Amino acid sequence: MARYTESVCRLCRREGAKLFLKGTRCYTKKCSFERRPTPPGQHGVRRRKMGEYGIQLREKQKVRRVYGVLERQFRNYYRDAESHAGVTGEALLQSLETRLDNVVFRLGFGTSRPQARQLVAHGHFAVNGVPTDVPSYALKPGDRIEVREGRKSREAFKVIKETLRSHQAPEWLSLDGAKMAGSVVSIPRRDQMPLDLSEQLVVEYYSR
Ligand code: SF4
Repeated sequence: MARYTESVCRLCRREGAKLFLKGTRCYTKKCSFERRPTPPGQHGVRRRKMGEYGIQLREKQKVRRVYGVLERQFRNYYRDAESHAGVTGEALLQSLETRLDNVVFRLGFGTSRPQARQLVAHGHFAVNGVPTDVPSYALKPGDRIEVREGRKSREAFKVIKETLRSHQAPEWLSLDGAKMAGSVVSIPRRDQMPLDLSEQLVVEYYSR
């Protein structure tokens, strides 16, 4: 499976925004973007004025990078969203939000989406009782996500269990921290997805 392997902090500097890809570090003074908010590379400080296309492209890249999705897969998400009845941009975000790795992150098992993705890929979770290690697995209302029985006693999960006690899951998910489980209550509406992203610009980018 192809994936991005360079420093993720470069992505924040490239997009000119904090994408929160490094967990707790993102909230400290060690955050690279806080220290150097210019684009990476030799000519980073000489940022040129962007045209309409550039703005749309950057927003598309930003959304893609927030969720850690590669180009082709992201385009597929967009095509699927287009075929949905309703608002395309919202449908796109709903598909991204209901990915298994994102739900694991939203439930508080990981401090960032990349960390949640790794937990899923290492096979720590089961969906509806079936071990699942596919980060892009598309969840639907009623699906139950749980740390697999044999993994709960691991030291890392004991720590996670403690943090879950104070974690507030979004209203479209329900969390049972004591059982290290959660479920999807409903597909999130746009106002239930607190994202500093403009999905409309992504729609405009693909509609050109
Ligand atoms: Fe981005 Fe987090 Fe790195 Fe800051 S620490 S630049 S928010 S990934």
